[in-house]
Amino acid sequence: MAQRGRAVVTGGAGFIGSHIVARLLQLGFKVTCVDNLLTGHRENVERFAGEGSYEFVEHDITNYIEVDGKVDYVIHLASPASPLDYLEYPIQTLKVGSLGTHNALGLAKAKGAVFLLASTSEVYGDPAVNPQPEEYWGNVNPVGPRGVYDEAKRFAEAISLAYHRVHGLRVRIARIFNTFGPGMRLRDGRAIPNFITQALENKDITVYGTGEQTRSFCYVDDMVKGMLKLLFSDYVGPVNLGNPEEITIMQLVSEIVEITGSKSRIVHEALPENDPKVRRPDITRARDLLGWEPKVGRREGLSKTVEFFKNKLGAAGD
Ligand code: NAD
Ligand code: UDP
Repeated sequence: MAQRGRAVVTGGAGFIGSHIVARLLQLGFKVTCVDNLLTGHRENVERFAGEGSYEFVEHDITNYIEVDGKVDYVIHLASPASPLDYLEYPIQTLKVGSLGTHNALGLAKAKGAVFLLASTSEVYGDPAVNPQPEEYWGNVNPVGPRGVYDEAKRFAEAISLAYHRVHGLRVRIARIFNTFGPGMRLRDGRAIPNFITQALENKDITVYGTGEQTRSFCYVDDMVKGMLKLLFSDYVGPVNLGNPEEITIMQLVSEIVEITGSKSRIVHEALPENDPKVRRPDITRARDLLGWEPKVGRREGLSKTVEFFKNKLGAAGD
């Protein structure tokens, strides 16, 4: 699949980033991870520290990114991604999506590297069409609390394509839908880590709103495969990557309760403002262009994630 080479991974100390780094090292790439550890984890750096082809640079990419030598790929993941995080860091989220993306593009341009942007299904906002194809322009409230993330990513897509049009930069845009798996932080705040930790600790499971809102959850190994296929393709426009199997949040809770054998009660809390009511990727483009679709079923993925969280909780937490 891949040519060997050197990749710079911004946000490589985060959840998806650390899985990408692991896979690239396995494929024989040299990897430079650039991360300021805002929402990432030092553990995701330390686990690669012994590898000769891995290098970590602790740096906030909203400032100029200095990387010596040849770079073949820039994989740009740096950004808070959990709603809890981007509500806590609204300005950092806007800055990393705008200034950070500009700097990452500048690095790719200076090195003649291929650039992959980790965009998001949040560019569709609270979608008025379901499933969402790439042609859909979205339904985003620019001034709502989630707007800081959605608009930062929409800007990131726009400036990436401007770099392609003006400078001929080889740009790839992955619109990532909800992804989960081992390596998420216990206190990440997203639905799956919250529900699994609550279930394992027999604490109340916090469902926001009625729980009738839907999401489509993709296992991280599938996501990494899709992202790398896209990186090594020559397709410039946005590509949805996600698992099209859509479920309600209540269904997700039932599955997690069943897998963990939890005695937790379900409690309903206020639905966050502008929380999308539905979300499901149309992955026709990824299927046709990349020959990619998710292979890991949700139950299998959830079971692996539950095992990971059990070990984490056993080792006294995050
Ligand atoms: P994460 O929070 O685990 O990782 C993000 C990483 O970016 C962290 O290590 C953080 O420290 C780093 N970072 C943030 N601001 C930075 C800055 N200014 N300079 C340097 N590093 C910075 O999140 P994740 O779930 O791994 O998401 C990774 C990317 O994928 C994000 O861009 C996110 O928007 C996108 N994405 C993720 C999902 C998902 O379900 N996980 C869905 C859609 C899009
Ligand atoms: N959610 C919930 N309880 C939680 C965390 C999240 O009911 O403890 C809901 C949230 O309101 C949303 C869905 O689960 O409707 C997915 O939330 P997540 O934060 O994982 O990601 P989002 O898709 O909203 O970005």
